[in-house]
Amino acid sequence: MDDRDGKIWMDGQLVDWRDAKVHVLTHTLHYGCGAFEGVRAYKTDKGTAIFRLQEHTQRLLNSSKILRMPITWTADQLNAAQCQVVRENALDSAYIRPLVWLGSEKLGVSPKGNTVHAMVAAWNWGAYLGEEGLKRGIRVKTSSYTRHHVNITMTQAKAVSNYTNSILANMEVTDDGYDEALLLDSSGFVSEGAGENIFVIKDGTIYTPDLSAGALNGITRNTVFHIAKDLGLEIIQKRITRDEVYIADEAFFTGTAAEVTPIRELDRIALGAGSRGPITEKIQSAFFDIVNGRNPKYAHWLTPVSA
Ligand code: PMP
Repeated sequence: MDDRDGKIWMDGQLVDWRDAKVHVLTHTLHYGCGAFEGVRAYKTDKGTAIFRLQEHTQRLLNSSKILRMPITWTADQLNAAQCQVVRENALDSAYIRPLVWLGSEKLGVSPKGNTVHAMVAAWNWGAYLGEEGLKRGIRVKTSSYTRHHVNITMTQAKAVSNYTNSILANMEVTDDGYDEALLLDSSGFVSEGAGENIFVIKDGTIYTPDLSAGALNGITRNTVFHIAKDLGLEIIQKRITRDEVYIADEAFFTGTAAEVTPIRELDRIALGAGSRGPITEKIQSAFFDIVNGRNPKYAHWLTPVSA
């Protein structure tokens, strides 16, 4: 991934892709205190536009605040950097990765005395769980790893270190041939996927875990709240047990990378008909209309990358 042409924004400068490097004694590399975002830009009739840029940047600033990493870049500067990187790399559509990290001035658990840095990269990244997964649904397994408790590394921060838990869960289940992991919270209730929020549908009502289950406050999750309202569907946030998922009519994951991905199986139990369900399909199609600029009601969620 490091050996390619292109430009990466690093601390206010556009640098060549191959030169966007940090020192091996970088504090974040050793202790995992860092914050990042995953953002997408889509091709629309009015040109390439970033979906819910302001909300992603605000979450990055919130994550940095939660992690006590004073960031000097403003939201406007970070927004401009993300647009610039998509433009400079001549991307029609893109996955955008901003990261905030601690420098290499000193090691030791206390980060005091280290500088805070920011970068933004962007590249082409198709369907995270596969094109086929978007259509047919994916096979999910409940991980043996528990999701973070809300008082461990802070679940409302998109913290670098939170992803060790995601990596362990994802590796565990993909090694067993599944597509993605579902994690339960420390009380055994459904929390979220390794990199996605989860929704289940039963008798026409949509349910999703409330955020006390340790799930990230997903921006796609919030987008689905709007879509459901437009479709006249009710979403209830509540504690969900894994067997409630087994007997659901439909289920799907949401995330910037995963978009809206149907779940057709959990722990080898087919959910509903074992394929993408009709309500999931409606929500998915409304989602792609919005991100691709085909729904004027949500035009304000799309920031054109043009200068
Ligand atoms: N949970 C986790 C653990 C994630 O990594 C993500 C992806 N950022 C999500 C949920 C979904 O969040 P969003 O819709 O904001 O991308």
